[in-house]
Amino acid sequence: MSAQPDAYTAALDRALLHAHAWLASLPTRPVGPRVDADTLAAVSAGPLPPSSCAAADVIDELAAFAEPGLMAMPSGRFFGWVIGGTLPAALAADWLVTAWDQNAGMRFATPATAVLEETAAAWLLDLLGLSAGADVGFTTGATMANFVGLAAGRQWVLERAGWDLDRDGLAGSPRVRVFVGAERHDVIDLVLRYLGLGAPIVVDVDREGRLRPDALAELLEAGSGPAIVCLQAGNLHSGASDPMGAAIDAAGQHGAWVHVDGAFGLWAAVSPNYRDQLAGVERADSWATDAHKTLNVPYDCGVAIVSRPEVVRRVFGVHTSYLVAADGAPGNPGPGNPFEKVPELSRRARGVPVWAALRSLGRAGTIALVDGLAANARALAEGLCSLPGVEVLNEVVFTQVCVSFGSDERTRRVTQQLIADGSAWMSGSRWHDRDILRISVSNWSTDATDVALSLAAVARACAGADAANPDADADTTRPAAASPHPSQATNDRD
Ligand SMILES: *Cc1c(COP(=O)(O)O)cnc(C)c1O
Repeated sequence: MSAQPDAYTAALDRALLHAHAWLASLPTRPVGPRVDADTLAAVSAGPLPPSSCAAADVIDELAAFAEPGLMAMPSGRFFGWVIGGTLPAALAADWLVTAWDQNAGMRFATPATAVLEETAAAWLLDLLGLSAGADVGFTTGATMANFVGLAAGRQWVLERAGWDLDRDGLAGSPRVRVFVGAERHDVIDLVLRYLGLGAPIVVDVDREGRLRPDALAELLEAGSGPAIVCLQAGNLHSGASDPMGAAIDAAGQHGAWVHVDGAFGLWAAVSPNYRDQLAGVERADSWATDAHKTLNVPYDCGVAIVSRPEVVRRVFGVHTSYLVAADGAPGNPGPGNPFEKVPELSRRARGVPVWAALRSLGRAGTIALVDGLAANARALAEGLCSLPGVEVLNEVVFTQVCVSFGSDERTRRVTQQLIADGSAWMSGSRWHDRDILRISVSNWSTDATDVALSLAAVARACAGADAANPDADADTTRPAAASPHPSQATNDRD
């Protein structure tokens, strides 16, 4: 028997109430959590109770337990790591995805979500200026989207070298040389480990962290055999992108597969104001981006785009009798099954919130979203520069701002004061041998008031840091303090 329709009502009503309360608290609550994980673990400890609990009561207990330990990541004053908020349409669509409970792997079984994802995919390709014939898969995040693109690249370059990866595996295969910029995201190395490709060949970068195409050309020239070049759109610290056109030209001379990690930076291609920074990116072979960062859909949602559908489907296709193929006509791969484009077989329809986000924004709204994030980053950078002893270390070309407050020690003290103050959250990090405070503007809802309140919070943090340590000056030769920098206390990977 199916569950009675009202079996869900009470719990969903409570969830709606708690969600409203959470969202309503965002403008005034401190951005950081009020308790840490160890404190929460101490009160939650205990075995699984033997008795059952009504669904609505479970939801009440859950909300009460979680409330003090939630980080206000959806706040317009959260600038930590690179973490977007959630657009209203995307959040509500995500709830529907859960209620619909579709296992979204097979086109014939779940036609509604398959076609909504195909529509979202077509909109994305159009917005990003990529070929309409590319395959788009919805992954958990950019890590797995990078995995998809680099797995397709591995397959393709080894096939072209005459190696049958599916039959013979990697052992004994020609070595695949993988070229990466010195300031790639750490997950690229992780993905290369997943793929058994070993350590990459590291290419020099300029002062904004952009890969130097001349250095890439030299390294490509210095060896031979199958090659993959992994470029970056959007450096975590500077926001700058590798010079796509020149790097892709160099890669092309050696028959290399070009993959682009554009977790947040690929979105620059959406706006006429920032597109030039990525000129030539459409000539790459695969791209990874996130929808849960710049596009502001809920976790978890990455996007893997591969220009050659037949390659990605050879990597991820599963051929079992109970799975129904979705073959196209000869010479046309057709839409394919969702499961042929990503590592998972069973998954939620995570492309549906992408559809909802894009449908709510429209083309103009999507461009305005990207432009707005970058404009707020510039406004924050300008405001910070006017504070005494503050230096913005990067060219603010997109959504990222790196700030030094003089010595490493003062930067650490200001960062700690800021996080304790609670009005805004920014990450500590280290870039070019200096401790920094890093700002990433990724939330659709950040507005001029948030920018002003955040600048005031940083000014207060500076005053607080100096009051706590009146002898300190901006001497960069001062030895590092013993207290841990927030970047060490937190995992600075995004
Ligand atoms: C965030 C990020 C990643 C990892 O993405 P996840 O969505 O966290 O898996 C990879 N590369 C870059 C440049 C990023 O900003």
